[in-house]
Amino acid sequence: MTVNGSWRRAARGAGLLGDDGSIASTIFAEMSALAARTGAINLGQGFPDEDGPTEVLNAAIAAIRDGENQYPPGIGIRDLREAIVEHQERFYGLRFDPDREVLVTAGATEALAATLLALLEPGDEVVTFEPFYDAYGALIGLADGIHRTVPLRLPDFQPDLDELRASVTDRTRIILVNTPHNPTGTVLSNEVLQTIIELAHRHDAIVVTDEVYEHLTFGPPHVPIATLPGARERTISISSGGKTFNTTGWKIGWLTAPTELVTAVLAVKQFLTYVNGAPFQPAIAAGLRLPREYFTGIADNLRVKKDLLSDGLRTAGFDVSPSAGTYFVVADAAPLGYRDAVKFCLALPDLAGVVAVPLSAFCKDDYADSTASLVRFAFCKRIDVLERAAAQLADIRR
Ligand code: PMP
Ligand code: GLN
Repeated sequence: MTVNGSWRRAARGAGLLGDDGSIASTIFAEMSALAARTGAINLGQGFPDEDGPTEVLNAAIAAIRDGENQYPPGIGIRDLREAIVEHQERFYGLRFDPDREVLVTAGATEALAATLLALLEPGDEVVTFEPFYDAYGALIGLADGIHRTVPLRLPDFQPDLDELRASVTDRTRIILVNTPHNPTGTVLSNEVLQTIIELAHRHDAIVVTDEVYEHLTFGPPHVPIATLPGARERTISISSGGKTFNTTGWKIGWLTAPTELVTAVLAVKQFLTYVNGAPFQPAIAAGLRLPREYFTGIADNLRVKKDLLSDGLRTAGFDVSPSAGTYFVVADAAPLGYRDAVKFCLALPDLAGVVAVPLSAFCKDDYADSTASLVRFAFCKRIDVLERAAAQLADIRR
Protein backbone atom coordinates (compact mmCIF):
# COMPACT_ATOMS: atom_id res chain seq x y z
CA MET A 1 0.00 0.00 0.00
CA THR A 2 1.30 3.49 -0.78
CA VAL A 3 0.62 5.91 2.00
CA ASN A 4 0.47 9.38 0.53
CA GLY A 5 -0.17 12.59 2.37
CA SER A 6 1.38 15.60 4.00
CA TRP A 7 3.39 13.51 6.48
CA ARG A 8 6.20 13.53 3.94
CA ARG A 9 6.37 17.33 3.96
CA ALA A 10 6.53 17.31 7.76
CA ALA A 11 9.28 14.68 7.81
CA ARG A 12 11.23 16.43 5.05
CA GLY A 13 10.92 19.78 6.83
CA ALA A 14 12.54 18.28 9.92
CA GLY A 15 15.20 16.52 7.85
CA LEU A 16 13.84 13.10 8.84
CA LEU A 17 12.80 11.73 5.43
CA GLY A 18 15.20 9.05 4.18
CA ASP A 19 16.07 8.56 0.49
CA ASP A 20 14.04 5.34 0.54
CA GLY A 21 10.97 7.20 1.81
CA SER A 22 11.38 6.04 5.42
CA ILE A 23 10.85 8.42 8.31
CA ALA A 24 13.28 8.56 11.20
CA SER A 25 12.18 9.42 14.73
CA THR A 26 13.19 12.80 16.16
CA ILE A 27 16.73 13.20 17.38
CA PHE A 28 15.39 13.63 20.92
CA ALA A 29 13.53 10.33 20.90
CA GLU A 30 16.49 8.59 19.27
CA MET A 31 19.01 9.90 21.76
CA SER A 32 16.79 9.22 24.78
CA ALA A 33 16.39 5.64 23.50
CA LEU A 34 20.20 5.40 23.12
CA ALA A 35 20.58 6.59 26.72
CA ALA A 36 18.02 4.05 27.96
CA ARG A 37 19.67 1.24 25.98
CA THR A 38 23.21 1.98 27.15
CA GLY A 39 22.52 3.28 30.64
CA ALA A 40 24.43 6.46 29.71
CA ILE A 41 23.66 9.81 31.36
CA ASN A 42 21.09 11.56 29.16
CA LEU A 43 22.28 15.08 28.37
CA GLY A 44 20.49 14.83 25.01
CA GLN A 45 16.77 15.54 25.32
CA GLY A 46 16.11 18.68 27.33
CA PHE A 47 13.95 17.75 30.29
CA PRO A 48 14.66 18.27 34.00
CA ASP A 49 15.23 15.28 36.28
CA GLU A 50 13.71 16.97 39.33
CA ASP A 51 10.14 18.01 40.08
CA GLY A 52 9.11 21.64 40.09
CA PRO A 53 7.51 23.66 42.92
CA THR A 54 5.23 21.72 45.28
CA GLU A 55 2.61 24.51 45.09
CA VAL A 56 2.21 23.73 41.42
CA LEU A 57 2.18 19.94 41.83
CA ASN A 58 -0.30 20.15 44.70
CA ALA A 59 -2.58 22.46 42.72
CA ALA A 60 -2.84 19.80 39.98
CA ILE A 61 -3.58 17.06 42.51
CA ALA A 62 -6.22 19.24 44.17
CA ALA A 63 -7.80 20.05 40.79
CA ILE A 64 -8.09 16.35 39.94
CA ARG A 65 -9.66 15.66 43.36
CA ASP A 66 -12.00 18.62 42.92
CA GLY A 67 -13.34 17.16 39.70
CA GLU A 68 -11.69 19.45 37.15
CA ASN A 69 -11.43 16.50 34.81
CA GLN A 70 -13.68 17.34 31.87
CA TYR A 71 -13.14 19.51 28.80
CA PRO A 72 -12.09 23.01 29.78
CA PRO A 73 -13.19 25.96 27.59
CA GLY A 74 -11.61 26.05 24.11
CA ILE A 75 -9.51 29.12 24.84
CA GLY A 76 -8.40 27.82 28.27
CA ILE A 77 -9.84 28.27 31.77
CA ARG A 78 -10.32 31.87 32.80
CA ASP A 79 -8.08 31.55 35.87
CA LEU A 80 -5.10 30.56 33.70
CA ARG A 81 -5.80 33.22 31.08
CA GLU A 82 -5.91 35.81 33.87
CA ALA A 83 -2.68 34.46 35.36
CA ILE A 84 -0.99 34.71 31.93
CA VAL A 85 -2.15 38.32 31.58
CA GLU A 86 -0.91 39.14 35.11
CA HIS A 87 2.44 37.51 34.32
CA GLN A 88 2.87 39.49 31.08
CA GLU A 89 2.14 42.72 32.94
CA ARG A 90 4.21 41.92 36.05
CA PHE A 91 7.37 40.91 34.18
CA TYR A 92 7.17 42.88 30.95
CA GLY A 93 4.61 45.68 31.37
CA LEU A 94 2.55 44.19 28.51
CA ARG A 95 -1.25 44.34 28.83
CA PHE A 96 -3.58 41.82 27.24
CA ASP A 97 -7.31 41.14 27.40
CA PRO A 98 -7.74 37.66 28.97
CA ASP A 99 -10.89 36.99 26.92
CA ARG A 100 -9.68 38.06 23.49
CA GLU A 101 -5.89 38.19 23.38
CA VAL A 102 -4.83 34.96 25.12
CA LEU A 103 -5.07 31.34 23.99
CA VAL A 104 -4.10 28.28 26.05
CA THR A 105 -2.61 25.47 23.95
CA ALA A 106 -1.24 21.92 24.26
CA GLY A 107 2.30 23.10 24.91
CA ALA A 108 4.22 25.63 22.89
CA THR A 109 4.29 22.99 20.16
CA GLU A 110 0.56 23.21 19.49
CA ALA A 111 0.71 27.02 19.64
CA LEU A 112 3.39 26.90 16.93
CA ALA A 113 1.49 24.30 14.88
CA ALA A 114 -1.84 26.10 15.00
CA THR A 115 -0.18 29.45 14.24
CA LEU A 116 1.70 28.21 11.19
CA LEU A 117 -1.27 26.22 9.86
CA ALA A 118 -3.56 29.19 10.43
CA LEU A 119 -1.44 31.92 8.87
CA LEU A 120 0.37 30.29 5.97
CA GLU A 121 -0.92 29.85 2.45
CA PRO A 122 0.94 27.26 0.34
CA GLY A 123 4.19 28.80 -0.89
CA ASP A 124 4.36 31.54 1.76
CA GLU A 125 7.82 31.98 3.19
CA VAL A 126 8.81 31.68 6.83
CA VAL A 127 12.17 33.00 8.00
CA THR A 128 13.82 31.35 11.01
CA PHE A 129 17.34 31.31 12.34
CA GLU A 130 19.46 28.24 11.79
CA PRO A 131 20.11 26.02 13.71
CA PHE A 132 16.38 25.82 14.52
CA TYR A 133 14.20 23.75 16.82
CA ASP A 134 13.23 20.73 14.73
CA ALA A 135 9.47 21.25 14.99
CA TYR A 136 9.77 24.51 13.04
CA GLY A 137 10.95 22.76 9.89
CA ALA A 138 8.33 20.02 10.24
CA LEU A 139 5.45 22.43 10.83
CA ILE A 140 6.43 24.80 8.03
CA GLY A 141 6.54 21.73 5.76
CA LEU A 142 3.15 20.54 6.99
CA ALA A 143 1.66 23.97 6.26
CA ASP A 144 3.23 23.82 2.77
CA GLY A 145 5.29 26.91 3.48
CA ILE A 146 8.83 27.62 2.29
CA HIS A 147 11.47 27.70 5.00
CA ARG A 148 14.23 30.34 4.66
CA THR A 149 16.93 30.46 7.28
CA VAL A 150 19.45 32.97 8.56
CA PRO A 151 22.58 31.34 9.98
CA LEU A 152 23.74 31.81 13.55
CA ARG A 153 27.47 31.29 13.69
CA LEU A 154 30.17 31.04 16.29
CA PRO A 155 31.58 32.78 18.26
CA ASP A 156 28.34 34.28 19.62
CA PHE A 157 25.58 32.79 17.42
CA GLN A 158 24.09 36.24 16.70
CA PRO A 159 22.84 36.67 13.12
CA ASP A 160 24.49 38.99 10.62
CA LEU A 161 22.03 41.86 10.17
CA ASP A 162 22.62 42.10 6.42
CA GLU A 163 21.93 38.40 6.00
CA LEU A 164 18.76 38.87 8.04
CA ARG A 165 17.68 41.82 5.89
CA ALA A 166 18.35 39.87 2.70
CA SER A 167 16.22 36.92 3.84
CA VAL A 168 13.04 38.85 4.58
CA THR A 169 11.11 39.91 1.46
CA ASP A 170 7.53 40.61 0.43
CA ARG A 171 7.11 36.84 0.14
CA THR A 172 7.79 36.47 3.88
CA ARG A 173 4.58 35.83 5.77
CA ILE A 174 6.13 35.02 9.15
CA ILE A 175 9.41 35.76 10.90
CA LEU A 176 9.70 33.00 13.49
CA VAL A 177 11.99 34.03 16.32
CA ASN A 178 13.26 31.97 19.23
CA THR A 179 15.01 33.67 22.12
CA PRO A 180 16.55 32.42 24.36
CA HIS A 181 17.56 30.13 21.53
CA ASN A 182 17.47 26.35 21.44
CA PRO A 183 19.97 24.79 20.61
CA THR A 184 22.68 27.50 20.84
CA GLY A 185 21.86 29.08 24.22
CA THR A 186 22.05 32.51 22.59
CA VAL A 187 19.91 35.42 23.71
CA LEU A 188 19.27 37.55 20.62
CA SER A 189 20.51 41.13 20.98
CA ASN A 190 18.10 44.08 21.08
CA GLU A 191 19.57 45.25 17.79
CA VAL A 192 18.55 41.97 16.17
CA LEU A 193 15.07 42.15 17.68
CA GLN A 194 14.64 45.74 16.49
CA THR A 195 15.74 44.81 12.99
CA ILE A 196 13.17 41.99 12.94
CA ILE A 197 10.40 44.45 13.82
CA GLU A 198 11.54 46.92 11.16
CA LEU A 199 11.60 44.16 8.56
CA ALA A 200 8.18 42.88 9.62
CA HIS A 201 6.74 46.37 9.09
CA ARG A 202 8.54 46.90 5.80
CA HIS A 203 7.33 43.60 4.34
CA ASP A 204 4.03 43.27 6.18
CA ALA A 205 5.09 40.07 7.92
CA ILE A 206 3.86 38.67 11.23
CA VAL A 207 6.35 38.01 14.01
CA VAL A 208 5.92 34.72 15.85
CA THR A 209 8.19 34.45 18.86
CA ASP A 210 8.92 31.27 20.81
CA GLU A 211 10.00 32.32 24.29
CA VAL A 212 9.62 29.07 26.24
CA TYR A 213 12.97 29.74 27.99
CA GLU A 214 11.92 33.29 28.98
CA HIS A 215 12.84 32.80 32.65
CA LEU A 216 16.02 30.83 32.06
CA THR A 217 18.67 33.45 31.26
CA PHE A 218 22.07 33.87 32.88
CA GLY A 219 22.99 37.40 31.93
CA PRO A 220 20.78 40.32 31.01
CA PRO A 221 17.07 39.58 31.57
CA HIS A 222 14.97 38.32 28.69
CA VAL A 223 13.45 41.02 26.48
CA PRO A 224 10.21 39.82 24.86
CA ILE A 225 10.11 41.06 21.29
CA ALA A 226 6.50 42.21 21.87
CA THR A 227 7.80 44.93 24.23
CA LEU A 228 9.67 46.72 21.43
CA PRO A 229 8.04 49.76 19.81
CA GLY A 230 5.82 48.72 16.91
CA ALA A 231 5.97 45.03 17.79
CA ARG A 232 2.90 44.16 19.84
CA GLU A 233 0.40 44.85 17.05
CA ARG A 234 1.91 42.20 14.77
CA THR A 235 3.44 39.67 17.17
CA ILE A 236 2.26 36.30 18.44
CA SER A 237 4.22 35.50 21.63
CA ILE A 238 4.38 31.84 22.57
CA SER A 239 5.45 30.28 25.87
CA SER A 240 4.81 27.24 27.98
CA GLY A 241 4.83 26.07 31.59
CA GLY A 242 7.13 23.13 30.82
CA LYS A 243 10.52 24.79 31.33
CA THR A 244 9.50 27.33 33.98
CA PHE A 245 7.85 24.78 36.31
CA ASN A 246 9.71 21.55 35.41
CA THR A 247 6.50 20.13 33.95
CA THR A 248 7.48 19.31 30.37
CA GLY A 249 5.06 16.36 30.35
CA TRP A 250 2.02 18.47 31.19
CA LYS A 251 2.00 20.32 27.88
CA ILE A 252 0.34 23.53 28.99
CA GLY A 253 1.35 26.32 26.66
CA TRP A 254 -0.13 29.64 25.60
CA LEU A 255 0.10 32.54 23.26
CA THR A 256 -0.67 36.22 23.58
CA ALA A 257 -1.45 38.32 20.50
CA PRO A 258 -3.88 40.89 19.07
CA THR A 259 -7.46 39.61 18.83
CA GLU A 260 -7.55 39.04 15.07
CA LEU A 261 -4.48 36.83 15.25
CA VAL A 262 -5.81 34.87 18.25
CA THR A 263 -9.09 34.33 16.40
CA ALA A 264 -7.29 32.95 13.33
CA VAL A 265 -5.11 30.60 15.40
CA LEU A 266 -8.08 29.43 17.48
CA ALA A 267 -9.91 28.49 14.27
CA VAL A 268 -7.22 25.84 13.70
CA LYS A 269 -6.38 24.96 17.31
CA GLN A 270 -9.97 23.93 18.08
CA PHE A 271 -9.64 21.12 15.53
CA LEU A 272 -6.17 19.98 16.59
CA THR A 273 -6.54 19.14 20.28
CA TYR A 274 -9.66 21.26 20.91
CA VAL A 275 -8.51 21.47 24.56
CA ASN A 276 -6.08 19.74 26.92
CA GLY A 277 -4.87 19.31 30.47
CA ALA A 278 -7.92 20.52 32.48
CA PRO A 279 -6.41 19.93 35.95
CA PHE A 280 -2.98 21.19 34.90
CA GLN A 281 -4.32 24.55 33.81
CA PRO A 282 -5.11 25.84 37.34
CA ALA A 283 -1.77 24.42 38.49
CA ILE A 284 0.17 26.43 35.89
CA ALA A 285 -1.95 29.46 36.88
CA ALA A 286 -0.70 28.98 40.45
CA GLY A 287 2.84 28.73 39.14
CA LEU A 288 2.61 31.94 37.13
CA ARG A 289 1.49 33.72 40.31
CA LEU A 290 4.49 32.57 42.39
CA PRO A 291 6.59 35.38 43.87
CA ARG A 292 9.35 36.91 41.75
CA GLU A 293 11.99 35.10 43.85
CA TYR A 294 10.83 31.80 42.41
CA PHE A 295 11.60 32.99 38.88
CA THR A 296 15.00 34.47 39.74
CA GLY A 297 15.71 31.34 41.80
CA ILE A 298 15.27 28.94 38.88
CA ALA A 299 17.63 30.99 36.71
CA ASP A 300 20.23 31.19 39.51
CA ASN A 301 19.96 27.47 40.11
CA LEU A 302 20.34 26.67 36.42
CA ARG A 303 23.29 29.06 36.08
CA VAL A 304 25.22 26.95 38.60
CA LYS A 305 24.46 23.86 36.53
CA LYS A 306 25.41 25.60 33.29
CA ASP A 307 28.76 26.64 34.80
CA LEU A 308 29.39 23.18 36.19
CA LEU A 309 28.84 21.42 32.86
CA SER A 310 30.54 24.13 30.77
CA ASP A 311 33.65 23.98 33.00
CA GLY A 312 33.59 20.19 32.84
CA LEU A 313 33.43 20.27 29.05
CA ARG A 314 36.33 22.76 28.89
CA THR A 315 38.39 20.59 31.23
CA ALA A 316 37.62 17.62 29.01
CA GLY A 317 39.13 19.52 26.06
CA PHE A 318 36.07 20.85 24.21
CA ASP A 319 35.77 24.42 22.97
CA VAL A 320 32.66 25.66 24.73
CA SER A 321 30.37 28.43 23.52
CA PRO A 322 29.05 30.51 26.45
CA SER A 323 25.35 29.83 27.02
CA ALA A 324 23.31 32.92 27.96
CA GLY A 325 20.02 31.06 28.43
CA THR A 326 17.97 27.84 27.93
CA TYR A 327 18.86 24.33 29.11
CA PHE A 328 21.70 23.97 26.61
CA VAL A 329 25.36 24.59 25.89
CA VAL A 330 27.15 24.00 22.59
CA ALA A 331 30.61 22.43 22.60
CA ASP A 332 33.02 21.75 19.76
CA ALA A 333 34.42 18.22 19.71
CA ALA A 334 37.06 19.07 17.07
CA PRO A 335 39.84 19.86 19.60
CA LEU A 336 39.38 16.30 20.87
CA GLY A 337 39.94 15.00 17.35
CA TYR A 338 36.28 14.38 16.47
CA ARG A 339 35.16 16.26 13.35
CA ASP A 340 31.84 14.49 12.89
CA ALA A 341 29.47 15.20 15.77
CA VAL A 342 26.95 12.58 14.61
CA LYS A 343 29.54 9.80 14.84
CA PHE A 344 30.87 11.33 18.06
CA CYS A 345 27.41 11.36 19.68
CA LEU A 346 26.76 7.75 18.64
CA ALA A 347 30.10 6.78 20.21
CA LEU A 348 29.74 8.96 23.32
CA PRO A 349 27.89 6.37 25.45
CA ASP A 350 30.91 4.09 24.98
CA LEU A 351 33.49 6.85 25.25
CA ALA A 352 32.11 8.53 28.34
CA GLY A 353 28.74 7.02 29.33
CA VAL A 354 27.02 10.24 28.22
CA VAL A 355 24.41 11.03 25.56
CA ALA A 356 24.31 14.39 23.72
CA VAL A 357 22.85 15.69 20.45
CA PRO A 358 24.74 16.76 17.31
CA LEU A 359 23.96 20.35 16.30
CA SER A 360 23.46 19.23 12.70
CA ALA A 361 20.12 17.74 13.84
CA PHE A 362 18.88 21.34 14.00
CA CYS A 363 20.21 22.30 10.59
CA LYS A 364 19.40 21.79 6.94
CA ASP A 365 21.90 19.78 4.91
CA ASP A 366 23.67 22.71 3.28
CA TYR A 367 24.37 24.40 6.60
CA ALA A 368 25.12 21.25 8.56
CA ASP A 369 28.75 21.25 7.31
CA SER A 370 29.66 24.36 9.25
CA THR A 371 28.32 22.81 12.44
CA ALA A 372 29.75 19.35 11.74
CA SER A 373 31.76 19.01 14.94
CA LEU A 374 29.36 20.86 17.28
CA VAL A 375 27.42 19.07 20.01
CA ARG A 376 24.54 20.25 22.21
CA PHE A 377 24.61 19.21 25.87
CA ALA A 378 21.65 19.70 28.25
CA PHE A 379 22.46 20.85 31.78
CA CYS A 380 18.91 20.76 33.24
CA LYS A 381 19.93 17.81 35.43
CA ARG A 382 20.74 17.27 39.12
CA ILE A 383 24.14 18.57 40.28
CA ASP A 384 25.37 15.06 41.16
CA VAL A 385 24.42 13.85 37.68
CA LEU A 386 26.28 16.73 36.04
CA GLU A 387 29.34 16.14 38.26
CA ARG A 388 29.37 12.51 37.24
CA ALA A 389 28.96 13.43 33.55
CA ALA A 390 31.79 15.98 33.79
CA ALA A 391 34.10 13.43 35.42
CA GLN A 392 33.29 10.82 32.78
CA LEU A 393 33.76 13.30 29.92
CA ALA A 394 37.18 14.22 31.31
CA ASP A 395 38.17 10.59 30.74
CA ILE A 396 37.66 10.73 26.96
CA ARG A 397 41.21 11.81 26.28
CA ARG A 398 42.87 9.35 28.61
N1 PMP B 1 10.16 25.57 21.50
C1 PMP B 1 11.42 25.32 21.90
C2 PMP B 1 12.51 26.24 21.49
C3 PMP B 1 11.68 24.20 22.68
O1 PMP B 1 12.92 23.93 23.07
C4 PMP B 1 10.61 23.34 23.03
C5 PMP B 1 10.88 22.05 23.76
N2 PMP B 1 11.04 21.94 24.84
C6 PMP B 1 9.33 23.66 22.61
C7 PMP B 1 9.14 24.78 21.83
C8 PMP B 1 8.16 22.79 22.93
O2 PMP B 1 7.54 23.19 24.10
P1 PMP B 1 6.30 22.38 24.69
O3 PMP B 1 6.86 21.18 25.36
O4 PMP B 1 5.65 23.32 25.62
O5 PMP B 1 5.43 22.00 23.55
N1 GLN C 1 12.77 20.72 23.63
C1 GLN C 1 13.47 19.56 24.03
C2 GLN C 1 14.90 19.61 23.50
O1 GLN C 1 15.23 20.44 22.69
C3 GLN C 1 12.86 18.27 23.56
C4 GLN C 1 11.48 18.25 23.13
C5 GLN C 1 11.16 17.00 22.36
O2 GLN C 1 11.62 15.92 22.69
N2 GLN C 1 10.41 17.16 21.33
O3 GLN C 1 15.65 18.76 23.89
